[in-house]
Amino acid sequence: TKAKIGLIGLGTMGAALALNIAEKGFPIAVWNRTTEVTRRFHAQAGALADRVVPTESLAELVAAIAPPRAIVLMVPAGPAVDDQIAALAPLLGPEDLVIDAGNANFHDTDRRAAAGLPMRFLGMGVSGGEEGARHGPAIMGGGARADWDRIAPVMEAIAARAEDGTPCAAWMGEAGAGHFVKTVHNGIEYADMQMIAEVYGLMRDGLGMPAAAIGETFAAWNRGTLKSYLVEISAAVAAASDPLTGAPMLDVILDAAGQKGTGRWTAIEAQHLAAPIPVIEAAVAARNVSARLDERRAGEARFGAGPQALELALPELEAALIAGKILCYAQGFAMIEASGRAFGWRLDLPGIARVWRAGCIIRSAMLNDMASALAEDPSRNLVLAPFFAERLQAAIPALRRVVAQGVLHGHALPALGAGLGWFDLMRTGRGTANMIQAQRDFFGAHGFDRLDGQDNHHGPWAMAG
Ligand code: NDP
Repeated sequence: TKAKIGLIGLGTMGAALALNIAEKGFPIAVWNRTTEVTRRFHAQAGALADRVVPTESLAELVAAIAPPRAIVLMVPAGPAVDDQIAALAPLLGPEDLVIDAGNANFHDTDRRAAAGLPMRFLGMGVSGGEEGARHGPAIMGGGARADWDRIAPVMEAIAARAEDGTPCAAWMGEAGAGHFVKTVHNGIEYADMQMIAEVYGLMRDGLGMPAAAIGETFAAWNRGTLKSYLVEISAAVAAASDPLTGAPMLDVILDAAGQKGTGRWTAIEAQHLAAPIPVIEAAVAARNVSARLDERRAGEARFGAGPQALELALPELEAALIAGKILCYAQGFAMIEASGRAFGWRLDLPGIARVWRAGCIIRSAMLNDMASALAEDPSRNLVLAPFFAERLQAAIPALRRVVAQGVLHGHALPALGAGLGWFDLMRTGRGTANMIQAQRDFFGAHGFDRLDGQDNHHGPWAMAG
């Protein structure tokens, strides 16, 4: 019998995904650029080896799959994907389907979908890291609906399941929509991680807490409103000791963050869409600053060490993180809403919140409530949904105190501060952009609308004195 599906790229993600697919009962043919990797993968597949067909050429791979074929690509985003599509093109028919499951830039997926490829093509975002890929990721599909429907039974079978049993795999929209939603997911992930890191910094440098106590605090928070994968792993991270020195693991890790670009893509796209996502942008910038180690050390030598001891109660920090999290998700969802209008996708916001409930890195207890709030009115900003408005109202005073105290004592809180700044902007009915409009009219004769309803006026501008 032929395989139900094929997979190319047996790296961290591809190997885990292939085993997951085999485990759910689908025979799978696999191929990897380095043949030795394919052989080792098959040899180590254990009880699942019977359902895995290892192949040593692309022709052999294609021949091993039942037509019309479906082949998952799990190779690095960019040229490797184009190269694989080009290599498969002469071997596949027009009804065969290639699914790019890597972290593609959604513009590349749009481009490939529009390129008139000789086969069918889907772009699919997969979140959850290696563990998720092996036991249940969140899956965001994009492309022609009919092509998604063809592979949906496999994707729903391997995906994580929310508490209510719904599989966390869904079609998002045409062309690059799946990769777009995955990109915003990663942007929110950057922001969530940065805010946790900022609160960790307040506990470490402001309250003088040792790593173990910080771990216990995160663990306690993970039993409440903040229950989420990222808070859970932060507790585990803070509790871990270095096998080499016995010191807390966190205390021996260099404070320079890496990135593969998805957070940056979210920030760039938000600017194109004029969608305000300052918490995510602050998180991307903070990673970039973190990587400039020499500059930060020179800054400390010139201006003195930053963070000083301060007084804050742990429940205030918890509430600040709750507020920050609501604000950053609200920005991410509003950006998705804006993209739907810009790209002609009809993105299902509550559906996206439901897909993110399990399997992915940003899974959290709050997403259930976000799905419900977005279902009430997808075009209303999440912060205005009654449920979250109440939560925010309760948590904002703590965020305000945490940011104020932190800033007064020299702590860097770019993401939490950006969240508060955005919140204060969006709850100010009479803002200060009248000054900007006057300046624009002064130097560029751009005109301004008046509060009394008269439009396109010019001011009587003259230099003072
Ligand atoms: P790995 O580096 O572990 O594996 C890469 C795989 O791609 C290997 O099988 C490698 O083959 C193959 N490969 C590399 N370059 C080429 C090429 N030019 N042509 C053909 N095959 C090639 O990467 P990951 O599994 O971590 O990532 C794969 C994709 O999944 C990426 O797009 C990544 O962004 C995305 N992703 C990763 C996540 C993670 O947590 N790691 C989470 C979600 C998405 P060989 O053995 O010959 O080197």
